Amino acid sequence: MVNIIIFGPPGAGKGTQANNLVNDFNLFKVSTGDLLRDKIKKKDQLGVKIKSIIDRGLLVKDDIINDLIESILSNKNYFNRLIFDGYPRNFNQARHLDILIKKYYQKISFVFNLKVDHDVIIGRIIGRLICSNCGLTFNEFSNPSTKENHQCHISFLQKRTDDNEKIARNRLETYTKETLPVLNYYQNQNLLYEIDGMSHIHEINKEIRRIIQSLET
Ligand code: ADP
Repeated sequence: MVNIIIFGPPGAGKGTQANNLVNDFNLFKVSTGDLLRDKIKKKDQLGVKIKSIIDRGLLVKDDIINDLIESILSNKNYFNRLIFDGYPRNFNQARHLDILIKKYYQKISFVFNLKVDHDVIIGRIIGRLICSNCGLTFNEFSNPSTKENHQCHISFLQKRTDDNEKIARNRLETYTKETLPVLNYYQNQNLLYEIDGMSHIHEINKEIRRIIQSLET
C-alpha cells in the first residue's frame, strides 16, 4: 500500500509512467491537470478562468487544487493507493498535502523525479497526442499509437490546447521557478528517488518498479 508522487517538468512522461504504475500496483491516478481539464469542459465561470490560466502556462490557484486533493484523500476507496501526477507544484501545495496526509492517516512512500533535458521536453510536448477515450498518452514522433499498444480508434487522439511551443516555454519557466524548489522539501524527508527520464518508457517503468518492490513494506 503506497502513495507515490511522480515529479518532473511538463512533458517528462509523468502521466505515461503513472498510467503504467496504476496497472502494476493497482493504484488510483490523481492528475491535477486532468482534473482541471474536466472542470474546463463544464464551460462555467470557473472553467473559463482555469482555461485562461492554463493557456498562459501559469499555475491555477492553490485553494482550487487543495479542494480537489482533499476530496480524493478523504475517499476511503483510495486509501494509501494514490499516485500523484503533476502535484504538488509549489511549496504551499506540498505543505498542504502533508497536512491532508496526516488528517486522513496516510503516508507518502516515494517521490520519483523524472529528469529530462529541457530541449527534449519541447519536442515531447509538441508531439503529444492524448486518447480522449482511454486517457493514454502517445507521441507522434517517439511513441506513436499503434494497433499493438492502443485499442481505441485513431479519431480519439487529440492535442491539448496548451501543447504548443510558446505555452510550453512558459510552462517550463513556471516549473523552474515554482515547482523545482519543492524537490528539496522531499529530499530532506529522504523520499526522493532520481530517475533518468530520457531512457525508454519501459526501462523507466522497470526502474521505478524495482525501487518500489525493493522498499515496499
Ligand atoms: P504538464 O505538467 O505536462 O504541463 P499537466 O496536465 O500536469 O501538464 O498540467 C497542465 C496545466 O494545468 C499546468 O500548466 C497548470 O496550469 C495547471 N496545473 C496542473 N496541476 C496543477 C497544480 N497542482 N497546481 C496549479 N496548477 C496546476
